[in-house]
Amino acid sequence: MVKHQEQFASDNSSGMCPEVLEAMLLANEGDVPSYGDDVWTAQVSDRFRELFERDCEVFFVFNGTGANSLALASLCRSFHSIIVHETSHAETDECGAPEYASNGCKLLLGNGEMGKLSPESIHHLVTKRTDLHYPKPKAISLTQSTEMGTLYKPDELANIHEVARKHNLYIHMDGARFANACAALETAPADLSWRNGIDVLCFGGSKNGMALGEAVIFFNKRLAEDFEYRCKQASQLASKMRFISAPWLGLLENDIWLKNAAHANKCAHELAAGLDKIKGIDLLFPVEANAVFVEMPVKVQEALRAKGWRFYTFIGEGGVRLMCSWCTTMSRIKEFISDTREAAMNEGN
Ligand SMILES: *Cc1c(COP(=O)(O)O)cnc(C)c1O
Repeated sequence: MVKHQEQFASDNSSGMCPEVLEAMLLANEGDVPSYGDDVWTAQVSDRFRELFERDCEVFFVFNGTGANSLALASLCRSFHSIIVHETSHAETDECGAPEYASNGCKLLLGNGEMGKLSPESIHHLVTKRTDLHYPKPKAISLTQSTEMGTLYKPDELANIHEVARKHNLYIHMDGARFANACAALETAPADLSWRNGIDVLCFGGSKNGMALGEAVIFFNKRLAEDFEYRCKQASQLASKMRFISAPWLGLLENDIWLKNAAHANKCAHELAAGLDKIKGIDLLFPVEANAVFVEMPVKVQEALRAKGWRFYTFIGEGGVRLMCSWCTTMSRIKEFISDTREAAMNEGN
């Protein structure tokens, strides 16, 4: 039998956490109505309303690309534009799905330090052209935690909200790792979302211990009008909805979602602390959630890959991304650090 060991390639390399699996099994009892008219879906939606301390509209889709692109499409008409960070998943990893789902909305690329869209950059994109030949900015999309593993603090969200209000822009949050942000900042979900202006949040499940499935949460309920039709048309409506919704109960009960995320964050800190001590390995970004980015000589990477380790290098040849998840273990972290130390030593560092 192949031995499967935890990797650092992505937090979606992990399986289901035990609580999710248990909730899935509980939902497997008998016949229930399909397409979301079941008790599980109703119950989980209420749990989200409690968690966010707010009446909101909740939908469940299969994946993050579907969640983001359909949520963004519901904020805009085809001649509008959406301001995103140049490194955002929506721009670089969704194969044009937001543009496709919205019938042609253009993504406008902003920037800012550490993967975070700055208020100045948003302001610049909105004000540089206001004539009708330019796609009219209508929404901002923020990723929390960011693609660089950093976090928008509540005051940073408040600053972006101010710019959004001034220019009449909606705010969407790609929360594929929203749980990691809540755990790291020890901040109420409401303060990282609607209390700081987020209109719609895509709350990630797959990287937090689900098999699959993301929740799309509209705090601005008006924007959720007919969203279920959008899901259906885009093939994102599950007929056996209970198997996407019920597992969330496993995460939400007893704050397993937070515990899973806090564990992943802690692992990332351990990993970073160990790697940082090795000569020739340098941290590229501060570790704030569950990602570690390091600059690592290509020869060292090759030696690690030869030993079976997996990781991505999409920010340049030497830039390695290491992700931790709910199931990362301290023993695998120690092994990775020790293998890296050995490979770096052999490289003469
Ligand atoms: C993983 C991820 C998603 C979701 O991707 P899917 O593969 O479509 O589920 C969305 N945004 C970010 C930032 C991600 O890392």
